[in-house]
Amino acid sequence: MDVVKTNLEDKNCPQLREVTCHVTKAKKCVVITGAGISTSGGIPDFRNKEVGLYEQVKRQFPGIFRTGKDLFDGEMLTSHEALQAFNLFMGTLKELIVSSSPTTTHYFLKKLADMKKLTRVYTQNVDNLEESAGLKVDWKLEKITKCSAQVVQLHGTMARLRCTNCTNNYPFEIHYCNIFKQGEAPWCPNCEQREDARLKQGRRPHSIGKLKPMVLLYGDEHPNGYEISQLAAYDEAKADCLIIMGTSLKIPGVKALIKNFSRAVHDRGGYVILINKSDVVRREWNGIIDYQIEGTCDDWVRMIEDELAKMDKKRHPKDNSIDGKIRVEGEGNKLESRNNEQSMPRRKKIRGNDEELSMKKLKTSKLKSTTTAKRRRPRATRNT
Ligand SMILES: [Zn+2]
Repeated sequence: MDVVKTNLEDKNCPQLREVTCHVTKAKKCVVITGAGISTSGGIPDFRNKEVGLYEQVKRQFPGIFRTGKDLFDGEMLTSHEALQAFNLFMGTLKELIVSSSPTTTHYFLKKLADMKKLTRVYTQNVDNLEESAGLKVDWKLEKITKCSAQVVQLHGTMARLRCTNCTNNYPFEIHYCNIFKQGEAPWCPNCEQREDARLKQGRRPHSIGKLKPMVLLYGDEHPNGYEISQLAAYDEAKADCLIIMGTSLKIPGVKALIKNFSRAVHDRGGYVILINKSDVVRREWNGIIDYQIEGTCDDWVRMIEDELAKMDKKRHPKDNSIDGKIRVEGEGNKLESRNNEQSMPRRKKIRGNDEELSMKKLKTSKLKSTTTAKRRRPRATRNT
């Protein structure tokens, strides 16, 4: 079936109401997000050529990178100058993240979780704004069936730094930004401590590692790739709605994830909805994505919040009710919803056997890094 394409500007479009209905009636939503959900919070889509962050680094280090994408290519980061440019980029990006705040869309995700409608968010973003909005981000992912992580960070996080030598990790504190912005990387405190002890004992020196943001580069394997693939299979066995937000569908690993979730969602009569600022759906997505809504994620969230709030009020008539209004919490992003009298069409009957699907999907193979189409060996760690 062809993708139904709509635009948020066409407010009376019946398809938009259909989508609202599907989302409000869904019980287990999986959400896949990209840079488009963070731009209004102050994080530019730095893969976008028109945004200045790449250009700034390219100007300062001419002739090293052809495109912004090269900055995230591990194979490009072999020279001292390339590493300097990478560090500058990371320092600048971290400063942007620190001064940004979660968006209306981030708080919508938290609201879905509070309403027990969220199965999980799979994000390509490294800004960690989901955690700032109150969602749980758990890197351990140890017990798939009892995983407390509400967000899976497919491409890592700028919230932590990892040593290239001993692999210890630390919070990415703001004072590290100055070091990164000078093109350097901070020394690892654990390695330094160990070295001090060795020197006092008169033993020969070892290398001291440097700290690197825990983000995935092109060609890197996700350190939790196996667990993520198991978790995704577990979630597929429950999902009855897939919402894809603010992503241009270009990363191969994410495309595969969408296709798997879409199959599972369709098996039980659910719908797959994409919200993106521009038209990104091509013919290859027919039968996989049901609706494409052109417009910003925040605008779409504002459009459906009334219906969600009505549902929430029915579930918890005494909670969250403020003068007849329902609030979706978030500093600077208070979403107020009024009762409205729209009647919503009934949702299609759900079909499919959860347990059977669960067992089948848990056998799926290891998830590749979502930043690469073909698997490459992980790069050796740098100790420079
Ligand atoms: Zn170390």
